[in-house]
Amino acid sequence: MSQYTIYPLKVGSIVRQKSNMAFMKDPGKTMEMPLIMWYLTDGERRVLVDTGGTAPDHRYQPYTRTKEQEPLAALLSLGVRPGEITDVILTHLHWDHAGNNQLFPNAVFYVQKAELQYAAAPIVLHKNSYDHKVIFNTEYKVLNGDCGLFGGISVILTPGHSPGSQSVVVDTSRGKYVIVGDLVGLYECFESEPMACSSYHTDLVSYYESLDKIKALGYRILPSHEPLIFEHGSYPPHI
Ligand SMILES: [Zn+2]
Repeated sequence: MSQYTIYPLKVGSIVRQKSNMAFMKDPGKTMEMPLIMWYLTDGERRVLVDTGGTAPDHRYQPYTRTKEQEPLAALLSLGVRPGEITDVILTHLHWDHAGNNQLFPNAVFYVQKAELQYAAAPIVLHKNSYDHKVIFNTEYKVLNGDCGLFGGISVILTPGHSPGSQSVVVDTSRGKYVIVGDLVGLYECFESEPMACSSYHTDLVSYYESLDKIKALGYRILPSHEPLIFEHGSYPPHI
């Protein structure tokens, strides 16, 4: 069976209220949080989970991104060129997760059907979260629920933050990791009792069902905007 190594790549920083990530926790406290593009390889396939944010001057959602944090520069720091990316799995289609699809011309893109449908016609509150110019200029392999994608990688439908959010389960030499997207923004959200959701949600009941589903697996999780992720250059960490 394929075993992957997961490399988190920082592709920008965003300053927001902590309570955006952990609903109703520490109101008024701001924090700087990373935008993360995940690179995974088993030595043959070269996979991305999410592609980072649209340009930093994105008119609705400004953030900062240094030259080294531009997605292609970040990838090149691992010696990988964009044309070598074989697959891109999108946890969901928000601007900070699916903003650079056009940079990977040879990749197969995977997204959940429910996410595509909602992205096409979100409620007005969520409209600015989807950059139609990018996400509807991408050709997708459309998934419908939980499924295996290829050896060592499968996805689980985990709605709540958005209707078609999915989590990516990855086999590694030290067990499975789950890249959970914005289902879990910070480790603290998953570890607190009760668990904390994002302030951004489309369905709180299914959100908590998704959290319970991931918790029940008992695998290690990798949250989407957690500064502590960069304490390790890879997962599993090199010792
Ligand atoms: Zn999101």
